[in-house]
Amino acid sequence: MKEKIEELFRAADRNPKCNTAYPIFKKKFQRYEADCDIMEGVSELSYYIHIPFCSHLCNFCEYTRFQAGDKSQEDRYLELLTAQIREFTATHPVSKVYGLDIGGGTPSALDETNFEKILKLANSLLEGDPDKGITAPAPAEDFEKSIEISFTTINEEKISLIGAYGFKRVSAGIQSMSRSLLEKQGRAYNGIQEIAAYMKALYAAGVEKINLDLMYGMPDQGEDEINGTLDVIEMLKPQQVTIYEMRYNRMKSKPENVDRELQYDQYCTLYQRLLQMGYKSRFGKNTFTLCEDHGVSSYIWHRMDQGIPYKGFGISAQSMGSIGISYGSLKNTDLKDIPEMSAIGTSSNYRLPPEEMAAKYVSIAMYSGCFRLDALSRILGRDSREYFAEELAYLLSQEYITIHDNYVTVTEKGFRFYGAIAALFWSDTQKALLLQQEKG
Ligand code: SF4
Repeated sequence: MKEKIEELFRAADRNPKCNTAYPIFKKKFQRYEADCDIMEGVSELSYYIHIPFCSHLCNFCEYTRFQAGDKSQEDRYLELLTAQIREFTATHPVSKVYGLDIGGGTPSALDETNFEKILKLANSLLEGDPDKGITAPAPAEDFEKSIEISFTTINEEKISLIGAYGFKRVSAGIQSMSRSLLEKQGRAYNGIQEIAAYMKALYAAGVEKINLDLMYGMPDQGEDEINGTLDVIEMLKPQQVTIYEMRYNRMKSKPENVDRELQYDQYCTLYQRLLQMGYKSRFGKNTFTLCEDHGVSSYIWHRMDQGIPYKGFGISAQSMGSIGISYGSLKNTDLKDIPEMSAIGTSSNYRLPPEEMAAKYVSIAMYSGCFRLDALSRILGRDSREYFAEELAYLLSQEYITIHDNYVTVTEKGFRFYGAIAALFWSDTQKALLLQQEKG
């Protein structure tokens, strides 16, 4: 058995698609497609609202997004999104809410009127509707709503609205401070003065935490560029920094000069320097914080930590209930205009066996380099220590993980192989397909 585990581990390490993504062999999920409501009976959850419009369409983007600027298209999107949310709240009583994120795309790419509508709509999820007998859900103790913006599309008016509607956390992707690197990826560049001025205005409007996203492992990205971007972070000192390894899962191939070793080295540079600046994290985590928190919104945290269910609204949004997942239509679509507006609100539902749900949980948890055995047992419906006894023993023998109480934590040595570690917790079907693909 150890040989089999070792073979799978090596195969996953050689496969660039093995990271936090799951499933890798998507076609095999089709057999789970079912006419069911995966959110039925789920009363404690988080919410996510997807706004798929962006001012620039970056080459590396893995999300569903369309060119912003067509007002009638954006108006219609919001109308349909509102209907989708109203329909859900009228039919699904929710007693507790853990998180609420508005993401995309770029929510701030909407014009001021629609931007305000989306903030109002998000808040309505927390307010209930006494006329319709819908009671307001109780927020979890660490509930924190969050919105994504870009410094290219934000302005004073939208900043005031963020404050007025009570959003205390804002997340913005800057990815890199190299203009040439960003432009090669079709992305807009904002200078440090401009970013600093907007951050100041956000704080003045009532925002308490700003997260800035960075990327590493991009084509032509070197240590000098990473250090230059970190110099800017040191000047801006956002409360949180999230670092993302560039993924090539949707691209035909990975550039030859980008490999796991290089990405690992770049992670080490980011980790060490962010810690020197005073940020808290743990090696293997992709979030860094100056505050007493986990460095992410409560929606993301509860999804990663315990696999708390979440309901996503909008095109391509993903939801996870206790029996499966669903994807809104047009997932991973890369078009200028939304081809079928009526597709908003329609989704494909997958009733998943517990093994698939467990694999998804562990894969997502790899962003934090840690997962919980009690959460895994709950999802599996059986003792995860027994179910994955051989996998856990192998990873412990290689010193790739440690286990303390319920926490499985990836070690510094193991982080080099985080994608292969996750693959050991995949379902048997996905594992077999990976090995099959290796053998050609
Ligand atoms: S990376 Fe962000 S800004 Fe760029 S296309 Fe994707 S969602 Fe839009």
